[in-house]
Amino acid sequence: MNIAFIGLGNMGGPMARNLLKAGHAVTVFDLNKEAVAGLVGEGALSAASPAEAAREAAFVLTMLPASAHVEAVLTGLQGVLSGAQKGVPIVDCSTIDPATARRLAERCTAQGNPFADAPVSGGTGGAAAGTLTFMVGASDALFAQAQPVLQAMGKNIVHCGGTGTGQVAKICNNLLLAISMIGVSEAMTLGASLAIDAKVLAGIINTSSGRCWSADTYNPFPGVMEGVPASRGYSGGFGVDLMLKDLGLATDAAKGAHQPLMLGALAQQLYQAWSQQGQGKLDFSSIIRMYQGQGTSGG
Ligand code: NAD
Repeated sequence: MNIAFIGLGNMGGPMARNLLKAGHAVTVFDLNKEAVAGLVGEGALSAASPAEAAREAAFVLTMLPASAHVEAVLTGLQGVLSGAQKGVPIVDCSTIDPATARRLAERCTAQGNPFADAPVSGGTGGAAAGTLTFMVGASDALFAQAQPVLQAMGKNIVHCGGTGTGQVAKICNNLLLAISMIGVSEAMTLGASLAIDAKVLAGIINTSSGRCWSADTYNPFPGVMEGVPASRGYSGGFGVDLMLKDLGLATDAAKGAHQPLMLGALAQQLYQAWSQQGQGKLDFSSIIRMYQGQGTSGG
């Protein structure tokens, strides 16, 4: 299939590569010329604008930082909508707010292009391995059309419901993840300060009712697990500032829905304070260092 792919960053680059590997013809666009050159070296065609990338495409994918970028790439001058042929589906895989996704869906649909939101989880490792989870908000017909394309980049393709529900699933999951990581940090630090061995405590939690992903797969306490950011100084992984972006989406959406987010708001402030101390690029599990009294000076 002839696919346009716009946004070749940490996630989009490897995703576009997997489409090439699956035998699709991919036309790419990104403001970053190096990212474009990398994909062209692997067989993609490059376009001078999102409109040009979309002109011959049977399917358009975007993977951009935030709502404003997606809006500009789709609806701006030389945007996708000014190039795409009628009927061509547009699927946005970025993490953006559900309200923007729904607004863009209306705009695209009005022009004859079905739109789906399909944010992902699985990180850069999942993007490279082609094992991402896609949370898709789309009509049944568009989901059926998109599924085979997304399967070249992911393992779990989940139909969450109508437009916007993919983003809802994504921000609710990350809200809970932010909170659970803080809870595990609090419990692990308390245990260690009361002189229980951290590995023993983690073992108990992971076979008891406190078990969760933050405890049994991504434990923030150094030395408890191999191969997680806590075992390498919190480098790599999912950055504090990216988690803050997702918490901002959740709190904004909650405001619109008149829904209180007590723990979410507190989590947002904790990560915000941690970012302010210059730790925004560290993995989000580094929040445990706040409990250990290790801020800017503690390292
Ligand atoms: P990134 O910053 O690495 O890549 C974004 C790319 O978009 C860059 O190459 C940039 O040049 C390009 N871009 C920006 N504005 C553009 C424009 N107007 N036209 C064309 N290209 C433009 O970001 P990423 O890590 O690839 O993340 C992309 C999305 O996926 C974000 O919404 C993020 O929240 C989400 N996400 C990221 C991860 C992760 O682990 N990195 C995991 C899940 C979801």
